[in-house]
Amino acid sequence: MDPVIVVGAGIAGISCARALAEAGVAVQVLDRAGQPGGRMDSPQHAGRPVDTGASYFTVSDDRFDRVVRDWQRRGLARPWSDTFEVYEHGATRRTAGPSRWAADAGLRALVQDLADTAGLSVERAGVELVARAGSGLTVDGRPASAVLLAMPDPQARAILQPALAAERAGLYARFDPVLVLSAGWPERVWRRFDGMFVNGDERLSWIADDGSRRGDGAPVLVAHSTTSWAASRLTTQDEDDATQLATQDEDDAAQALLQALQDVLDIDTAPSWTRLDRWPHAKPAAGRAASFQLWPSLVGACGDGWSERPRVEAAFLSGLLLGQAVARRLGRPGS
Ligand SMILES: Cc1cc2nc3c(=O)[nH]c(=O)nc-3n(C[C@H](O)[C@H](O)[C@H](O)COP(=O)(O)OP(=O)(O)OC[C@H]3O[C@@H](n4cnc5c(N)ncnc54)[C@H](O)[C@@H]3O)c2cc1C
Repeated sequence: MDPVIVVGAGIAGISCARALAEAGVAVQVLDRAGQPGGRMDSPQHAGRPVDTGASYFTVSDDRFDRVVRDWQRRGLARPWSDTFEVYEHGATRRTAGPSRWAADAGLRALVQDLADTAGLSVERAGVELVARAGSGLTVDGRPASAVLLAMPDPQARAILQPALAAERAGLYARFDPVLVLSAGWPERVWRRFDGMFVNGDERLSWIADDGSRRGDGAPVLVAHSTTSWAASRLTTQDEDDATQLATQDEDDAAQALLQALQDVLDIDTAPSWTRLDRWPHAKPAAGRAASFQLWPSLVGACGDGWSERPRVEAAFLSGLLLGQAVARRLGRPGS
């Protein structure tokens, strides 16, 4: 039998591929980045990882809890904070919530671990076309018994041939963009906090103290824009293709976010470095009731767009459930 091809090595794609591998199904994972992580990205900057995508994760489902407890036992993940600050009209207050989890080596390391512990490798491939071929499917010409798209809807729709019309029509969710500014100072010049929701600012929505999150105390802040401000700074040449999105003026955007960050935290010294990350498809604009989709063609879709509460945990579960459903469909219900 041809392998199942999973396109996308974010947490949904890796969770999906794990479920298939555990059921004894031959699976290949392709990602244009050539490594696991996706929006749980933690690039190295100034000698340490910085979480430039997802900030943290929460746990409410037993199936994800088992995975997280295993990460905790092996020192990969730890509870970070249950109390953040809220900044509004120049004042801050504290707000308690669920335990938010972080990873000392960055969130990407957790997705890498999920891949490694299942013996999965990720092949670098920017997929261009998923097509019907006779009674089967191909991914850029490679035959596949099923093709599972683990990515935001606009990215998935963009690679489906027009003849896969029902599948394209089902991938209708809109995703909103976010711009993320990371900045490092020679020393901490702000009072200690873990994370701060920013209300009422057109530019900023959230600030994380990355040194607190990472546990190394490094004087690094990560600021997320509002989705509406990011949308106003991004031009879309082709709404289906994330790679076609470009900032009108990246330096200008970084400077505006830095100014907002410094205003909120009352910082009057310049950082020693900054970087700007663009997430054209950061978050689904709305949730969905279904956890995944598997069409009769054996094209499937999973990811955080398949949840009423789109986030890391939802993406993990969506991938797991799709992987299990495909294994059953292929007659491999697993152990
Ligand atoms: C700025 C930001 C802040 C966030 N904050 C939080 C938070 O605090 N807590 C939380 O729980 N969640 C947060 N999220 C959401 C969280 O990151 C996502 O829910 C989760 O990571 C989604 O995983 P996924 O596997 O569904 O998709 P992704 O991680 O997006 O994975 C999709 C993968 O598909 C690949 N891909 C796309 N097109 C192709 C192609 N044509 N060929 C090959 N590969 C392709 C991409 O390279 C990517 O690796 C945040 C996201 C962003 C961007």
